[in-house]
Amino acid sequence: MKIMKFGGTSVGSAERMGAVSQLLPTQEPVIVVLSAMSGTTNHLVQIGEQLAQGNVAQADSLTRQLEQHYHKVIADLYKQDPSKDKAKQVLAQVFADIRACFDRPFSPASEKIILAQGELLSTQLFQLFQEENNITSVLLPALEFMRITPDEEPDHAYIREHLQQQLAQYPGHQLFITQGYICRNAKGEIDNLKRGGSDYTASIIGAAVKASEIQIWTDIDGMHNNDPRVVKNTYPIAELSFDEAAELAYFGAKILHPSSILPAQQHNIPVRLLNTMQPEAQGTTISSKKGGNKFKAVAAKDGIIAIKIKSSRMLLAYGFLRSVFEVFERFKTPIDMITTSEVAVSLTIDNPTYLPEITEALQRFGTVEIDTELTIVCVVGDFMEDKPGAALRVVQALRNIPLRMISYGGSKNNISILVNTAHKVEALVSINEGVFQEKEEEHA
Ligand code: ADP
Ligand code: ASP
Ligand code: MG
Repeated sequence: MKIMKFGGTSVGSAERMGAVSQLLPTQEPVIVVLSAMSGTTNHLVQIGEQLAQGNVAQADSLTRQLEQHYHKVIADLYKQDPSKDKAKQVLAQVFADIRACFDRPFSPASEKIILAQGELLSTQLFQLFQEENNITSVLLPALEFMRITPDEEPDHAYIREHLQQQLAQYPGHQLFITQGYICRNAKGEIDNLKRGGSDYTASIIGAAVKASEIQIWTDIDGMHNNDPRVVKNTYPIAELSFDEAAELAYFGAKILHPSSILPAQQHNIPVRLLNTMQPEAQGTTISSKKGGNKFKAVAAKDGIIAIKIKSSRMLLAYGFLRSVFEVFERFKTPIDMITTSEVAVSLTIDNPTYLPEITEALQRFGTVEIDTELTIVCVVGDFMEDKPGAALRVVQALRNIPLRMISYGGSKNNISILVNTAHKVEALVSINEGVFQEKEEEHA
């Protein structure tokens, strides 16, 4: 079984849906995971925002715009009237579910119902398109098997069992279509895997069915060595190890959801990043294979907060760091980077939810300083001790930028630097010039 996930742009129009259909295998079983058509989730977010502010008229007008857009999609996508009629029924149901949220007090639960409609639309429309073209396919309802725990982690055992139950209902079928991104939470309510979550769905499903391969089809020819939205002259990377890809995804490479590599890695399932606009391109293969260039890629993650705790009690004391970490554990806030000196420790978080409580708790240990609007620039590659000079090359490239923290040696494949977000673009460009634009033999 193969998993093929298509992102928003890949299914963004009737024409693109037609192109995706051409890419599907005919002789082997596949689960196709679809995102919402491009722009839809953003539009649904806006509807939710208007409702949250009590602007029902605005929400209604945005909903009408979206509905009109989908009527146009239907007109473009199907040739036959019966298909158009069925698709109109799909629209009627989806938009009724959105409008039902207008009549009750707005809550996070309503917001999540609204956000789920993009994937419910794209998958149903795509399945009807297969039907019109006489291709047998099965729509697997993600809300029947995709579930998260109270800690918002995928409930792998539940997912495996319930997905298998769904698949077992259709022996001999080859083409299954399901929604990315959406799930149910521990209370059984509709929820989601956070923005960009369809990649995560694909990987979780891949792990659940022990797929032979997980393909992530998008609008670019694989993972590039730098953010192509910010830097010119980036290039695709043919191969990455799971660890390298996980670091890049976690530290901001938008092409992959931050958590999407782990389920594939745990079951050693290769992940391929491919381009729907250029299907013949090699793309990127992510696997357990290690090696290759010293420097592979750089990514950047914004919205970082640095916390510095300064205390003379830290001097020669053991147990100090444990007490500090316990505070973050208590408030369920993961730490990304950490550096220490004899009398101070600096660490970073990206979730500000409990910052006031964390700050108050840390003040027991010493002076606490908070810096916001920071960015982690994360250089990924193979930095074994026997390949010296890597850190020097990165820091040298950043010589004109003030560096707030440097982290090297935590793993063999990551050098992370904390800078002010105002310096992010300059940092990525400087690293491109100073680290990646050198001759190939210098990378080796
Ligand atoms: P999809 O809708 O298919 O999930 P995304 O927009 O989430 O697609 O991800 C693909 C986009 O990620 C690319 O168009 C590109 O602009 C952006 N991107 C950011 N960093 C990278 C990178 N290092 N390599 C490739 N693409 C990247
Ligand atoms: N549609 C969702 C989003 O836009 C999930 C995804 O595309 O992966 O975030
Ligand atoms: Mg995405």
